[in-house]
Amino acid sequence: MDRSQSAREAWKRRRAGILPSIDDFMAKVEKHSATGCWMWKGSFFSRGYGSFNIIEDGRYKAIKANRQSWIYFRGPIPDGLFVLHKCDNKACVNPDHLYVGTHRQNMDDAIERKQMVSGTRHAHFVRIEGAVDRVRDLFAQGFNFTEIARWTGLGKTTCGRVMGRRF
Ligand SMILES: [Zn+2]
Repeated sequence: MDRSQSAREAWKRRRAGILPSIDDFMAKVEKHSATGCWMWKGSFFSRGYGSFNIIEDGRYKAIKANRQSWIYFRGPIPDGLFVLHKCDNKACVNPDHLYVGTHRQNMDDAIERKQMVSGTRHAHFVRIEGAVDRVRDLFAQGFNFTEIARWTGLGKTTCGRVMGRRF
């Protein structure tokens, strides 16, 4: 199917109120061979999670791409549970890198991975400090600052500063 055809199909599905297909979803995924991560290349929520539009009650609703990946590949998410990452890439939607758990587990995991520091410091600083390892990691994997900024939810300049670069 060529590009204009698939756009037409998408439009028809929207009119009919049919949920986006798994192909629509996978079209926004870039598989990264070194880590096995499926990096989201669609739009993002401000905190670095991928955003995917589904149709609910005839209206668009943006939901986290990692949640939608779970629904597509594993099935419904039990009420009150979260889709969490085993890998440290919030932008990753590989179902093998995801698990379902409680918010408490999420916090424990984050603390374990040193993604959070004590809440006494300024929130913005905490956010950057928590992401420094991830910026370094992604940079080491060969991603550019535009991609890293998108996946960490930080600004490109901030990501550059982490690596000692200026723009
Ligand atoms: Zn991953």
